[in-house]
Amino acid sequence: LYLKALEIQGFKSFPDKTVLTFGEDITAIVGPNGSGKSNLSDAIRWVMGEQSTRALRGGKMEDVIFGGTEKRRQVGFAEVSLVLDNQDHALSLPEDEVMVTRRYYRSGESEYYINRRTVRLRDVNELFMDTGLGREGYSIIGQGKIDEILSVKSADRREIFEEAAGISRFRHRKEEAERRLERTEENLVRIRDKIDELE
Ligand code: ATP
Repeated sequence: LYLKALEIQGFKSFPDKTVLTFGEDITAIVGPNGSGKSNLSDAIRWVMGEQSTRALRGGKMEDVIFGGTEKRRQVGFAEVSLVLDNQDHALSLPEDEVMVTRRYYRSGESEYYINRRTVRLRDVNELFMDTGLGREGYSIIGQGKIDEILSVKSADRREIFEEAAGISRFRHRKEEAERRLERTEENLVRIRDKIDELE
């Protein structure tokens, strides 16, 4: 599993369609301050489902859309696609190449695609869960992240290890099942009350 390409259009400082292709080896991105290097890692975070505007270094989600410059008008939507080589099938999809796309309009509408099929954010999250990628993953180490890992509460640190060990998918499912169970139990109590009333 490796990142093959990143396609960006209308995202932060990239109004035009920009395609970056990567090999299996190390790639370094260099450029002067403010030239958009961090915007590229923001784009990767964003397409993998990041919902926190703070993590994306903005105030509101609209800030990810190219906002215009003196010379250029703003654009109406941002779109980022991530192309991953999946020949090892680390992502549980049959395809050897997986493209994940996120689009966001100024109106607030969001769209997600996996291999050009419309999906929900949840599907994107599930695709990346336990792969080490994804918004809870540890594949992107931002500035200050190491300090954070060293200083967070032990429960939070455990989450990082759970993701690395590939068991967070099960924890999420367990939590969901527990919530459903709780709701069902509440319903049962209500039904018993009704039966008592009727008897
Ligand atoms: P540094 O080395 O200082 O960290 P960098 O190369 O990582 O710089 P970025 O932080 O990625 O740079 O890019 C910042 C630039 O992106 C700024 O010039 C900012 O104006 C521009 N920018 C961010 N969001 C938008 C947006 N929504 N529309 C237009 N430009 C944007």
